[in-house]
Parts: sequence; structure tokens; C-alpha cells
Amino acid sequence: MPMKNIAVIFDFDDTLMPDSTTELIKAHGIDPDEFWGKTVRDLLLSGYEPALAYLNRLLENVGKDRPLGEMSNAKLREFGLSLGKNFYPGVSGLFKELREIAGGVSADINLEFYVVSGGLQDLIEEMPLLKKNFTAVYGCQFGECPKSGLIKQIKKCVTFTEKTRYLFEINKGISPRHVEENKYAVNKDVPLQKRRVPFKNMIYVGDGLTDIPCFSLVKRMGGMAFGVFNPGEERSAKRALLEFLNTDRVISMHAPRYRKTDELGALLRAAVSTVAQRAHLDSSQAETDD
Ligand SMILES: [Mg+2]
Repeated sequence: MPMKNIAVIFDFDDTLMPDSTTELIKAHGIDPDEFWGKTVRDLLLSGYEPALAYLNRLLENVGKDRPLGEMSNAKLREFGLSLGKNFYPGVSGLFKELREIAGGVSADINLEFYVVSGGLQDLIEEMPLLKKNFTAVYGCQFGECPKSGLIKQIKKCVTFTEKTRYLFEINKGISPRHVEENKYAVNKDVPLQKRRVPFKNMIYVGDGLTDIPCFSLVKRMGGMAFGVFNPGEERSAKRALLEFLNTDRVISMHAPRYRKTDELGALLRAAVSTVAQRAHLDSSQAETDD
């Protein structure tokens, strides 16, 4: 029996833990309110794309005698390791449990986890919990100066619409390694019935404005999407997100708590079970039809 692939795809910052870039700058003595509210905002007002604005502002803080100091990708990864304790309640046990639920439906179900983030990939991907459970992590990346080894240029910038590109890569079964060899691999024409992870087998979880294209795409194609909303959070992006959700893109919104007794935790477990059962039935049906 061919394996049926299911993907649970998470945004990272404010979805699985509080914003990791904010933690990075805070730890280096940069005031987050000043950084996001003034320094980055000034660039936004002068026409910069949000992701490029914050990445450029981070780079301006790198160097001897500057707040981020002699920052390299290795140091970003090292800092990321210190954030493991910040995961929201229930995240640590979630992946194993979801895998057990999928496995309990049928042995032909393969459940995978992905992060698609507008945050810093090097900050995120080395976290042991993700390393152990996730198939791939997509996020923004810096290139380093060959001489000094410090981060110096923007290598990969994941904007809000760029996020859907990674859903298509997952959908078509194009791995990050494959993309390294062929930057345009995502444009490959793959017949619908040959796509590795059909969109209807995707479950997307995210919290912000950058997640809206993914919410729309996954829902339109028959998958499931869950919005995360921290009720204590009053930032304007959250308010704007709620406004966006007053459209036909409505998805359910939940506090970022993932234990099985929590609303979102319970719904995710039910979603994996439902998608797994449907995928299994689809494959049994296909075999009967043959
Ligand atoms: Mg987020």
C-alpha cells in the first residue's frame, strides 16, 4: 500500500513560542519597542518590505562595538538553543502524540511536521525538539562575510506570500536540498495525483498577517487551518489579523496552548485523526476502484 503523507505546518514566532527575534535583540540590550516600533517602522514608512526592513535593521546592529556584536550564523544557532524553554505549554509532547494518533489510524499514514517562518531560520532550526521531529524548517537567512565570518547580507527573505511557495514545495515533494541545486524547482509541473502531500492533507497553524496567504491557500484546497491568538496581546498586528478574519477566510482562533486538554491541542489532535482517516479511506477507495 503506498504511503499517504500528511503535513502539519507551523508558523514559528508567536505560534510555537514568543517571538524569537525579539528575544535575540533583548538579550543583546536592544529595546524591542524602539526596534520594532521606531527603527523598523521608519523603513516600513519609507517603502521597505516588512521582512527586508527588520533583516536590514538587524544587520546594522552587527559588528564590533555594536549591540549584536560579532554575530555569525553559528552564534544565532547557539542562541536559538537557549530558547528551548520558551515553547508554549504542551508543545514538547505534541509531535510524538500526533504521530501516535496518525499511526493508530493506519500503518500507511506518514505524518510530517514543518516550520514555515518569516523569522530567522538559523535561530530556529537547531532547537532539539524541532531537529528531532521536523522534516524541514524554512525561514529567513543571512550570508556571512567570508573574511570576518560575521553575518553581512540577506541570503533568504521569507515574505508573507513567499510562505506559500514553501507549501507548494512540500506539496510537490521538493526538498530543501533539491532547491539548493535548482532554485526554480518549485515551478516544476507535477500532476495533481503525483503530488507528495496533497493540500487536503495539510494542517496549517499560524498567528500573524504573514500567515494569511497560507490560511487561504490551505483552506481553499481542502486542508485545515487554525489561527493562534494570544488574548493578552494587544499589538496592532493582532487586531489587524482579527479584522482580516472577518472575511470569507474565517478560521478558528485559539490561545497557543497545545496540551490535549487545551482547546487548540484537542482540535489539532482531532484534525490529525480526521485527515488521517480520510487519507486512509481515499487510498482504500482508490484500490477498490483499480
Ligand atoms: Mg508568527
